[in-house]
Amino acid sequence: MTDLILGIDLGTTNSLVGIVDSGFPILLAGANGSRMTPSAVYFPDGEGEPLVGAEALRLRMAKGERVVTSVKRLMGTRETVMEWGGRKWGAEDVSALILGKLKQIAEAAMVEETAGKPITRAVITVPAYFNDGQRNATKRAGERAGLIVERIVNEPTAAALAYGLDKLNESSKVAVYDFGGGTFDISILELNEGVFQVLSTNGDTRLGGDDIDGEIARALWRLAGGDGDRVPDSFGEAARQAKCALSAAETFPVRLPFYDGEKSFEREITREWFEKVARKVIERTRGHCLRALSDAGLEARALDAVVLVGGSTRIPLVRALVREVFGREPDVSQNPDEAVALGAVIQAGILSGAMRNMVLLDVTPLSLGIETFGGLMNVIIPRNTTIPVKRGELFTNAVADQSSMRIRALQGERELARDNWELGAFEIPFEGGPRGSARVGVQFAIDANGILQVLARDTATGRDEVLEIQSAAVDVGDEKVEAMINESVEHAFEDMNARRWTEGKMKSDELLPAVDQALAMLGDSLDAEEKARVEAAAAEVRMALESGSVSRLKAANQSLDEATETMAAMLVERAMSGI
Ligand code: ADP
Ligand code: MG
Repeated sequence: MTDLILGIDLGTTNSLVGIVDSGFPILLAGANGSRMTPSAVYFPDGEGEPLVGAEALRLRMAKGERVVTSVKRLMGTRETVMEWGGRKWGAEDVSALILGKLKQIAEAAMVEETAGKPITRAVITVPAYFNDGQRNATKRAGERAGLIVERIVNEPTAAALAYGLDKLNESSKVAVYDFGGGTFDISILELNEGVFQVLSTNGDTRLGGDDIDGEIARALWRLAGGDGDRVPDSFGEAARQAKCALSAAETFPVRLPFYDGEKSFEREITREWFEKVARKVIERTRGHCLRALSDAGLEARALDAVVLVGGSTRIPLVRALVREVFGREPDVSQNPDEAVALGAVIQAGILSGAMRNMVLLDVTPLSLGIETFGGLMNVIIPRNTTIPVKRGELFTNAVADQSSMRIRALQGERELARDNWELGAFEIPFEGGPRGSARVGVQFAIDANGILQVLARDTATGRDEVLEIQSAAVDVGDEKVEAMINESVEHAFEDMNARRWTEGKMKSDELLPAVDQALAMLGDSLDAEEKARVEAAAAEVRMALESGSVSRLKAANQSLDEATETMAAMLVERAMSGI
């Protein structure tokens, strides 16, 4: 199964890999059960191969000088980060090892699906600000790991895909606030024809959760009575633990027994204390956000969405700052440390075709139809129909000698055409003739991209008229859909009444002239009592039409139908005997 394509988030702190499996994007866990692989590599002193991930990170305390982390910051440079095996290792070489590990994780997790064959294709994400050199270095790292890099995708774009922002309206603008372990990125994107364009990007490649850990570690160290900048590693680890815990809890007990072999430190710290210490670091993201907005020429309120990405956005104070800067509640519906990877997987799935199912599952948010005689909505494709879809119906002329029909494409849930939205309209000409003689087929087709095509055909001549409506069929804002549905529920009773009235009136309009014509034709051959009964029933229909009462009209139509039974039979008999 070489058509599988991996989606990879090659992060500064953590990396993730995933794939589309049976139409679903999934992230894959390594042998230790974690979907996150620390972007760390340990190079052994003597024998053995480099270790990647959690195992490497674990050796940092004992053999810190042999462990490399955060090489992404050096991507595209010639800087040596390690000398090992008789040669110099740079960021690209180390990244190749990390990518190789991710490839292995994926192959192990997918072994049943692939029957053990290698997976060789991948999509890899990079920060939006990466230049060509850095992008090419990332690509080469992938190739060195045995991967064909099908595409390099911007991290904010991937995150926006994971958040489903590609379903927003055309020209929507979104901000992606990505606060990771060692870097901060803010990007403003605009959605154009289903593709995100980067309007502006800003940030700091040396600002992240690690800096918060550092501040907290130093503060704890001072509380323990320590001085100078040489903070023991154990304080750094305790700081990171406390930080993560305080994203959910209000207090956290820091315990460092015998941290220097003799002294111990123990202190219950509160979120309030944490925020006081961490505020300075978190505040540094504010200016970057404001600059990104101003570079994009936008005010915060012009944005349609703000999404949070990166592990550090779990911190409540970070969320509060985002809320304040952008004046709105950020979208946190996705797992912040997995959003970029998930987006990479979705992009990979779209490229390989494995994700086609997801596109197919798009549905029409509102019903589509045309206006029919009497101003009623005639639904052709009901709401919540899966696209692509093609459906049609045959219509006829309601009036004799009509020579064209106006097709109004409508969207909405209301019974009366005028309460729904008009998407477009056109005329279809046909041969004039008696009422009900024309045959006009109307077909609605929505393709996988949500483009609606309305086709009308005069079946007598085979002549077609076609109207194309871009994306409006599927692309309606959630709020508008909700408002339309609420309205249809609110007006359900009166709408139904209006429909029944129009239908009743159409029936009366058909019956009354026919009855008048029959009475004239039959003349005296109808006995007086019978004739009086028919006339009375017809008069009641006319009065019911005046009254405006739906139920009265319905009953009157029915009585007239019944009263004319004998008369109708006589007419048939006459026709048969050729008189
Ligand atoms: P990167 O994109 O730089 O690889 P991530 O998005 O994985 O990084 O973020 C890693 C950072 O998120 C680390 O600094 C980590 O301590 C921090 N982090 C993870 N979980 C939490 C949490 N619950 N609260 C606060 N910070 C967290
Ligand atoms: Mg990241």
